[in-house]
Amino acid sequence: MAIQLRGKPSQWVTIWLFFLIAVGGLWYPLLGYLMLGMMLGIPLLAYFRSRYWCGNLCPRGAFLDIVLYQFSPRRPYPRLFKKQSFRWGVFSFIMTVFAIRMTLAWGNWLAVGGLFVNMCVVTSIVAILLGVLFNQRAWCAICPMGTLQESLGKLGSKVHKKTVAKLDE
Ligand code: SF4
Repeated sequence: MAIQLRGKPSQWVTIWLFFLIAVGGLWYPLLGYLMLGMMLGIPLLAYFRSRYWCGNLCPRGAFLDIVLYQFSPRRPYPRLFKKQSFRWGVFSFIMTVFAIRMTLAWGNWLAVGGLFVNMCVVTSIVAILLGVLFNQRAWCAICPMGTLQESLGKLGSKVHKKTVAKLDE
């Protein structure tokens, strides 16, 4: 199997963050707070640029495009993944589990950091499994952050269009 060098220059910069959090975080849980920073910044970017983060900057997206691509059969993922109800179901499930675990860990800042690392590791394992079964970006079809960005992007473009229409009146 020939290795194909791919990925955008920005992804080659951000991919190291994926390894830093998912691997380094196992020894140094405070690295999990890097994920918190991203989770807070992503919605703002998404409002203006929809899924720009996913295609250009996401560290895990970079890992999927650069590394997992090499091992993926590149088959279409199940149609179920495109259903909004399923995607929001995955979103709700992951956020509920996260909220419960956050409540339990609250006050222990090492444990909170570890929770972010754990979330990154578990969802990355799912992303890798889906990648070797279907295609490297199959996880991105149901990733809670992707679902959120898409909705915020649509909202942002609606608001933008309305504002432009009002200015044209
Ligand atoms: S869908 Fe999720 S994992 Fe995929 S690129 Fe976007 S934020 Fe990253």
